[in-house]
Amino acid sequence: MLNLSVLLENSAQKYADKTAFTFMDSSLSFAQINGAANQVANALVSLGIRPGDKIALSCFNLPYFPIIYNGILKAGATVVPLSVLLKADEIHYHLENSDAKAYFSFTGTEDLPMGQMGHEGFQKTEACEHFFMIMPKSDMPSTIEGVETLGTMMRGQSPIFDTVETKSSDTAVIIYTSGTTGRPKGAELTHSNLFANTVLSADLIDCKPEDTLLIVLPLFHIFAMTVMMNAGLYRGATSILLPRFDAEGVLSLMHKHKVTIFAGVPTMYWGLNSYLDTNEFNISTIKSTLKTCASGGASLPVPVLEKFEKTFDLTILEGYGMSEGSPVVTFNQLDVGRKIGSVGTPVWGVQVKLVNEEGEEVPVGEKGELLYKGHNVMKGYYKNPEATARTIKNGWLHSGDIAVKDEDGFYFIVDRTKDMIIRGGLNVYPREVEEVMMKHPAVSMVAVIGVPDDEKGEEIKAFVLLNEGQTTTEEELTEYTKGNIAAYKYPRIIEITKTLPTSATGKILKKELRKL
Ligand code: ATP
Ligand code: MG
Repeated sequence: MLNLSVLLENSAQKYADKTAFTFMDSSLSFAQINGAANQVANALVSLGIRPGDKIALSCFNLPYFPIIYNGILKAGATVVPLSVLLKADEIHYHLENSDAKAYFSFTGTEDLPMGQMGHEGFQKTEACEHFFMIMPKSDMPSTIEGVETLGTMMRGQSPIFDTVETKSSDTAVIIYTSGTTGRPKGAELTHSNLFANTVLSADLIDCKPEDTLLIVLPLFHIFAMTVMMNAGLYRGATSILLPRFDAEGVLSLMHKHKVTIFAGVPTMYWGLNSYLDTNEFNISTIKSTLKTCASGGASLPVPVLEKFEKTFDLTILEGYGMSEGSPVVTFNQLDVGRKIGSVGTPVWGVQVKLVNEEGEEVPVGEKGELLYKGHNVMKGYYKNPEATARTIKNGWLHSGDIAVKDEDGFYFIVDRTKDMIIRGGLNVYPREVEEVMMKHPAVSMVAVIGVPDDEKGEEIKAFVLLNEGQTTTEEELTEYTKGNIAAYKYPRIIEITKTLPTSATGKILKKELRKL
């Protein structure tokens, strides 16, 4: 018997009055979060929600998130976190696809606009019976007639609840993949998947009760959910919530709360570097308190890593993971050491191997698809046995990512199979081209894709963001890249641009670039 909500319950017993979450000027203790989660669980049960029912939740990084998340778990139901950027039709798709019985959605505010009022997507969905608006102030009346708010739902409910017993193999969360390469898929993660990954993540980020975490990665994504929120709950640490990334906001909160642990996707580290290039900010307090910085979700360009580490005089620990792996698969672990540009070594209890197209393991130094096996492998894609069978074979999860291993057992992600460019019959990995181009002093960020070409099949195109105040030309960049990489790999088309499309998680969306 294992229910993931034990992470919160245990800390509510042990650290009752300690602050669990801080958002702006308000702080909630572990006991308060637990009591509120119990009220949600009582309300759900009184509505007839049964163990195994799916309940969708879309909310920014606000204390409502851990409250509702744990309330659903305590009732023995499955949490289906949804991105806050979804539009009505997408909400409808996710609610139908996940068989959600109820849907909690933040209403949005001027500062925190939701992709769409969740109610529109809910209305079209037949099986979903209940809609709860999460209002910015819980005592505010609902703005839609006949619709209940989280506040009214919880009112009068007891803050005591006997958590429903669940099996460790029951699905705790159905998490939708980021949709970087296609339509998001719902990965079914069990209580034991998430519990094991949370416990080991707490060690990876060196999380202790006295630590303060800054969570700006969205909680509806697996990275923040496991590595930050659940690890913090488990260890009884305090989490500062920030609903949206902006470099100044992050730095101000790090300074104000003496943050010790931060996790981000590469575009966040890049954003912090860029901000500090052009703005005055006294980082001395941050430098003396910040100890752990973790990066994952996409490859962290080495120039971005080096610049950030130099500024803050610390080490960024890069890890590799995916929704299907709860998420952490490999990590630069404090006790093993780290290598720049590497995603580290397999985490506790997880085996990794690299195979060629024939499924044979490749030798050290050669590229192969990364496969992993262990306690972190999802049950499968919800209601998609074909995709599950393609992805998990004999317990090995096929990641779709190409990697190499060095002689010390450290893994380096080359790229996604889907992003590989085949130009005139030769394989080109965008990441390699991006790393070279980013060494150019005027270049701030690069995204390389393949575009259709009559002669070569695919041609290499680079979208380039320049450092503020710097100028260069497309011709000059072509010459530079040509001089630093094999002739078949340099981009024949370069476009200097002002922005790159990113997902709600902050990943660069190459599928959007391909559409252009
Ligand atoms: P979708 O599967 O819907 O296309 P997604 O793969 O981006 O979206 P996630 O589960 O959020 O959804 O991301 C997992 C992927 O992110 C991995 O398969 C890998 O491609 C990439 N990734 C994660 N960490 C790293 C890293 N450190 N370096 C390079 N790539 C990484
Ligand atoms: Mg994926």
